[in-house]
Amino acid sequence: MERLTDRGVIKEILNRHGFTFSKALGQNFLINPSVCPRMADAAVSSDNVGVIEIGPGIGVLTNELLKRAKKVVAVELDKRLLPVLEETLGEYDNLKVINADVMELDLHKLIKDEFGGMEVAVCANLPYYITSPVIMKLLEDRLPVKTITVMVQKEAAQRLCAQPGTRDSSAITAAVRYYCDPELLFHVSAGSFMPAPKVDSAVIQLTLREPQVQPKSEELFFKVIKAAFAQRRKTVLNSISSSLSLDKNEVSDILNIAGVEQNARAERLTLQNFSDISDVLYDRRY
Ligand code: SAM
Repeated sequence: MERLTDRGVIKEILNRHGFTFSKALGQNFLINPSVCPRMADAAVSSDNVGVIEIGPGIGVLTNELLKRAKKVVAVELDKRLLPVLEETLGEYDNLKVINADVMELDLHKLIKDEFGGMEVAVCANLPYYITSPVIMKLLEDRLPVKTITVMVQKEAAQRLCAQPGTRDSSAITAAVRYYCDPELLFHVSAGSFMPAPKVDSAVIQLTLREPQVQPKSEELFFKVIKAAFAQRRKTVLNSISSSLSLDKNEVSDILNIAGVEQNARAERLTLQNFSDISDVLYDRRY
């Protein structure tokens, strides 16, 4: 069904189904007609792409993805939206809707079962309350996915796409850079949604690739990153020693061996620095 960005059409469909928006589920539906075609163009690079969409809502983005992709599997937690999607997208035979919490789903199995032989992409206007956990799940699961194209709050986009070594960077910046190359594609104003959220948003694209550093233990590497950013106003020496409950003299030694300045702050460190610190710690502890 077209015109899913029209306020009147949306209200009429939702009223008929007795649907009211849930703030807790991050339900802000897109009503700016230019946004979904741009997102779908960025996500679907050929007609052999299978797309996982998280949170289709009433299907406004799904509709654009279905026109371009070979198949779309849309994962929606709110079962009240299932009959709505049946009405708005029932005409397509390349859509499968799964009523589930994306955080609980085995996405490896879903990809294997649904997308044999297709290139796989993820595309979503993400519910804001789980932006970081969803993105980290998609990356940490090492899914055979080419790109992740998602709408997130503007501040989250800045953090996720920050250049390492700049003030916007944080623990999630470093974690994201380990798995992929992030890019901010375009900004979207708060008025593009119904109901309008308090803040603006942006669409980002993560292109997955092999990690460019090889720490001896990934678990320890991510622990060190979290510890270094835990008290970001402090030096890495202080932040790592207090967050990991390590003696300051020992952390000072570790930083020396890893060739990292004692007074540096976490935002200045490269992924190679974090990998070197965690490797020295690994050799001492394991
Ligand atoms: N794609 C639609 C659009 O752009 O208008 C809706 C986007 S809305 C920001 C987020 C959607 O994610 C809602 O439909 C909501 O019910 C759904 N959702 C929230 N939490 C979810 C979860 N854990 N798993 C799957 N879907 C979820």
